[in-house]
Amino acid sequence: FKDIGHPVCVGLDIAGSGLSLPRVSGLPDAIFENDGQITKRPVRALTLSTLAPRPGEHLWDIGGGSGSIAIEWLLSHPATGATTIEPRPDRAARIRANADALGVDRLRIITGSAPESLSGLKSPDAVFVGGGLSQDLLTWLNDHLPTGTRLVANAVTLESEALLIHWQARLGGDLLRIELAQAAPLGARTGWKSAYPVVQWSVTL
Ligand code: SAH
Repeated sequence: FKDIGHPVCVGLDIAGSGLSLPRVSGLPDAIFENDGQITKRPVRALTLSTLAPRPGEHLWDIGGGSGSIAIEWLLSHPATGATTIEPRPDRAARIRANADALGVDRLRIITGSAPESLSGLKSPDAVFVGGGLSQDLLTWLNDHLPTGTRLVANAVTLESEALLIHWQARLGGDLLRIELAQAAPLGARTGWKSAYPVVQWSVTL
């Protein structure tokens, strides 16, 4: 890992490979080792835009998966911090490997489940829920996070979407529905292949 610091295109030279990556969010999925559980590039870019990292801020990334959200948060500025919570040890190990490979070994990784594992962690400025969304988790966050904390939650299932609609009615904030389709082969021709819609709730507590 080397910061190439080009005057125009500040980027990252991955392991001296000559492959330079921009610092903006929405890096290619393929640079994160993953088992399919990854927030895909366009949704990740929108999510980081909503999370809006600033120098000095700390993120909790709940449901780390491959670590892509926390890693892009950390790549945004060297003075950011992040803790990710992921119950599966194989995924936690993958997050470690991805963070190290991309030069953000300051990522703190908790192998555990939310909300149980959240007590005692360094207080966050922003929280992302990409997995483990539940009534219990949202109640815990609402009860424990200081006023002013930014909360962003993504839902794919109808059950978790219903939860977000309920909490938005209670606490306010914005609901965004992200519906994307990518052109893909359809027989001999091409058709729009839709991804599952993602509902994103963002609120400042
Ligand atoms: N944002 C991730 C993908 C998240 S997939 C990325 O870009 O890679 C959802 C993850 O949430 C899975 O890895 C799953 O193991 C984890 N998860 C499920 N229940 C959880 C809980 N209660 N607390 C924390 N993580 C949980």
